[in-house]
Amino acid sequence: MSPVPFADRPLGSTLVLFDVDETLTPTRQPAGTEILAVLKALREKAVIGFVGGSDLPKITEQLAVHGQNMYDNFDYCFAENGLVAYKWGEALEAQAFIRFLGEEKYKKLVKFLLHYLADVEVPVRRGTFVEFRTGMINVSPVGGNATPKERLNFEAYDKVHKVRETLIEALKNEFPDWGLTYSIGGPASFDIYPVGWDKTFALRHVEKENFVDIHFFGDRTYPGGNDFQLFHHPRTIGHTVTSPEDTIGQLKALFDL
Ligand SMILES: [Mg+2]
Repeated sequence: MSPVPFADRPLGSTLVLFDVDETLTPTRQPAGTEILAVLKALREKAVIGFVGGSDLPKITEQLAVHGQNMYDNFDYCFAENGLVAYKWGEALEAQAFIRFLGEEKYKKLVKFLLHYLADVEVPVRRGTFVEFRTGMINVSPVGGNATPKERLNFEAYDKVHKVRETLIEALKNEFPDWGLTYSIGGPASFDIYPVGWDKTFALRHVEKENFVDIHFFGDRTYPGGNDFQLFHHPRTIGHTVTSPEDTIGQLKALFDL
């Protein structure tokens, strides 16, 4: 089914963007049927998209659920902060972290991380401590394969022991002039990517559409959170949410759904 052109929608000059984890879905979990229904109703009025930090396969597991096709439900799909981008199911130009950094620097960075992580105390260790993605690398002291419960346990542990904060400081000292930035987006990991390749990167893909209003809903909108930059960007109207249920309530109120 081909999408309704933006100009034919009542709020066709309004773009509404969403973070994924804890905004549309519980962290790394599938979306519920209610939020999908609300998004469908919203899309009949306005233009919608998500801007997730995860890679596209993970987000697909979360949003292509209940028999839904993700590309039919969102006008824009932005994975890895918009480094991987789709409009109406068609890929837009992608960017790569490895091209930015180069193989030699990348190797130094991963060596440093693996040495550091080998020595740090954490409650459990699972697999995939450094995950290589298109636009960033994702670092998890417990490992990306940890279960949701193990991740939440680590988050509580990390509040006390500051494992991630301390490691990020060490990285800043070790590689002060590499143009990298560090962002804590989930309970048990953080992302490393070039300065400016945060979620505001997604805006580059919609510039020429000249939307009048761009709304952005996210949960980690505080300094250091992965929604912070897009939430505060002059181009967006930011909304902080606490859960998918909160997103549903705010959308219904704001867009009269
Ligand atoms: Mg989130």
